[in-house]
Amino acid sequence: LPQPFKDALPILEKLRDAGFEAYFVGGSVRDTLLNLPIHDVDIATSAYPEEIKNLFSKTVDTGIEHGTVMVLDHGTGYEITTFRTESTYQDYRRPDKVQFVRSLDEDLKRRDLTINALALKTNGEIIDLFGGLKDLDKHLLRAVGVANERFHEDALRMMRTVRFASQLDFKIDNETLTAISQNAALLSKISVERIRVEWIKLLIGKNPRAGLEDFLKTKLYMYCPLFELKEAGLEKIKTIPNLKLDNEEQCWTLIATCFELTAEEAGQLVHAWKCSKELKMNVTKAKKAVEAMLANELTPYIQYLTGRDMLEVACRVVQLINITDYTSMSVMLAYEGLPIKSRKDLVVDGNVLRQFLNIEPGPQLGKMLIQLELAVVNRKVRNEKLALLEYAQKLIVK
Ligand code: ATP
Ligand code: MG
Repeated sequence: LPQPFKDALPILEKLRDAGFEAYFVGGSVRDTLLNLPIHDVDIATSAYPEEIKNLFSKTVDTGIEHGTVMVLDHGTGYEITTFRTESTYQDYRRPDKVQFVRSLDEDLKRRDLTINALALKTNGEIIDLFGGLKDLDKHLLRAVGVANERFHEDALRMMRTVRFASQLDFKIDNETLTAISQNAALLSKISVERIRVEWIKLLIGKNPRAGLEDFLKTKLYMYCPLFELKEAGLEKIKTIPNLKLDNEEQCWTLIATCFELTAEEAGQLVHAWKCSKELKMNVTKAKKAVEAMLANELTPYIQYLTGRDMLEVACRVVQLINITDYTSMSVMLAYEGLPIKSRKDLVVDGNVLRQFLNIEPGPQLGKMLIQLELAVVNRKVRNEKLALLEYAQKLIVK
């Protein structure tokens, strides 16, 4: 057993000593069998939430309504979830109510894919009710039970499936793939936030081209925000050789570029996908830098406004679409050579300007600071107090 499981053994043993069943379940079991690194282990038990809480001294109700209690053990938190079924689904997105049960079988039955429905006992034995081990071996994604029904119950499972196709580089079983095509429209019932998590995991996965292929073929894309008319743009991403993305900024900047959006439209796209204001700002910046690079007009001032991190994002995107001579190395070297990296690096600030030049606070001062930044970045004036004040004085006279 890998260390994270070993560390959690005392918790499972305590549950068992109290007469309950307890197993490791979910992604950590799957990833261990695939020899992939694991982060945290999920524990499933026949004990009800109240029973778990009575057994352990330190617990936190992280998701008590779904039956999840976090047990704190020597500084580590373990999510323990009571066996449950999700019997009646009415709105294609979540169970009407969670029903706690005492049987592991019932709990495994409600899981999405066979490879995610394995349970690991403390003695290392695997419980495999749906042929998950064989599917792991065959690199196959197959829904537990009747695929059509399972996607009808919860449409997010379709996005999870195409996400795993990329993340694990697995094929989707035929019946499961057909069921996704048949139920794709139900994805519109799922919240954008939850779709986005899977979409980004798909793009930064091991084989994004395969994931994109399934995403396109099944028409899932048509039910994603502002993607309906973007088949060609998505195809373009799919055909990028060596497509390798590391973070969400890169993903959206590449998408915006392949969709041929303006920086402003890129901002609207990520807004529609419910990204944070910060992400929106970053993608807009990176997209502007990409535009400048593609036009061969990456000026020092644009480098300055873009900043190091988004400049790296823009470089990666340009490198992926591979239609200019820019190399990341030369761009980043040029950036590192800028006289200042942000307004904080200017040796004068608003207060100093006001004091020496007798100007009122307000828009004029802001504009002056921008002009000073521009002049310093373009090496028209040195970043020294006297030189800057003199330059600012001339700006006033003009
Ligand atoms: P990851 O490596 O991304 O964490 P994971 O399989 O662990 O993958 P989680 O979202 O952490 O994904 O879910 C844990 C487990 O819960 C899954 O392995 C699966 O058994 C079950 N599960 C999660 N989401 C669903 C769903 N929408 N429908 C059915 N079962 C699900
Ligand atoms: Mg997980």
